Amino acid sequence: MLFCSIYSIWFKMLFTMSKSKIQRYEICCFEIYYLQMHFKLELLIFFNRNYHIALSLSFSMYFQCCNSTHAPILLPDGSPVIVGRSAETKIPDKLCSRNQLELVANYNQKYVMVKQLGSNASQIEGIDIGHRKTDRLHAGQTLHVVDMKYPHKIAICIPNSGTTSSNTKKTKLPQEENTFSKRQKMTEKVAKNISDEENETNSNNKNNSAQKPSYHWSQGLKGSMDDPSLRVSKDDKVVVIKDKYPKAKYHWLVMPIENIISCAHLRSEHLPLLKHMVKVGEQTIEDNISEKDKSKTEFRYGYHAVHSMSHLHMHVISQDFDSDALKTKKHWNSFTTEYFVDAEDIINEIEKDGKVKNRKHMADLLKEPLRCHICKRDQKNMPELKKHILKCG
Ligand code: AMP
Repeated sequence: MLFCSIYSIWFKMLFTMSKSKIQRYEICCFEIYYLQMHFKLELLIFFNRNYHIALSLSFSMYFQCCNSTHAPILLPDGSPVIVGRSAETKIPDKLCSRNQLELVANYNQKYVMVKQLGSNASQIEGIDIGHRKTDRLHAGQTLHVVDMKYPHKIAICIPNSGTTSSNTKKTKLPQEENTFSKRQKMTEKVAKNISDEENETNSNNKNNSAQKPSYHWSQGLKGSMDDPSLRVSKDDKVVVIKDKYPKAKYHWLVMPIENIISCAHLRSEHLPLLKHMVKVGEQTIEDNISEKDKSKTEFRYGYHAVHSMSHLHMHVISQDFDSDALKTKKHWNSFTTEYFVDAEDIINEIEKDGKVKNRKHMADLLKEPLRCHICKRDQKNMPELKKHILKCG
């Protein structure tokens, strides 16, 4: 702005002083030149202040099928894109609505806001989004379009810049295109860029172990697996961590190293792992509780009917529920009603049916009245319940 004012005063002075047409023409040229300079300057300042916006001009986000069944779908910044059962996604499933999901990319913060429009459930990292509800999909997370099927991810495609370095090829920035036929045409090019990008990210991660990844909240457990202040033990199959918000005096989570999203992904081949997790849970108790507590403390091993956090985790929790982090009815009911499914039951189900029952309908159990888990008497509120369990236990 300062530059602009100086230039305009300067031009006005020159203009009034000049008499001949030639002089006036030259001044006009100067004025145009300086105005251009000023415009460029303003743009620079704008992009400097809004470097995220500037960055957003250098990449595009795509909705990419993990099985490469269809072409990546361009997600323009801030504009809703509807996906579902269609020729474009090649999803024929009647469970999937034609308008199953609304996707709105946020290039500034590099996530996609996902709204479930269809009535059948879509999942992010194995967790239901909910009808008419929204959740964020971050790079690296998996979105199942319907009923844990049709996995997709966000792909961020950064075309190489104009100057070609020795180890990079010069590629053209894909333009925003809306029609199916245009998307089809650029499939190969974009798919290549995306896989290059993924490979680069993976190798960067390997090479740069000091760089800590950032996690969406539902991915918090994955981050905690590597947190030395939470990790209790590790072997070649599982990691045991302290629950960050323990709901009892002793509360650990046993997690497989293998990337298993939730109980819904368990199959017969996981049975040895599930049995091993129980054994590790028993050993964790043995190794970590005081002698005094050993004889009198009861434990349960199990899973919540619907996980709130991604990555399979088995709770190992003492039944005293003596903890400041246990605050709400939801917390209480999640560990004391049938919402808490014993590890043994999960193992039995898989042995019998090859998979775990769908327990999504059990979410209503979290609204049940507060009831002591020992004497089964109803309690008025959480403070009353907490006082009661100290005596009843
Ligand atoms: P759920 O997914 O319902 O089986 O429970 C998730 C458990 O993870 C809860 O008991 C939380 O207290 C615990 N938790 C949440 N975030 C973290 C974290 N970042 N690290 C460790 N435990 C966590």
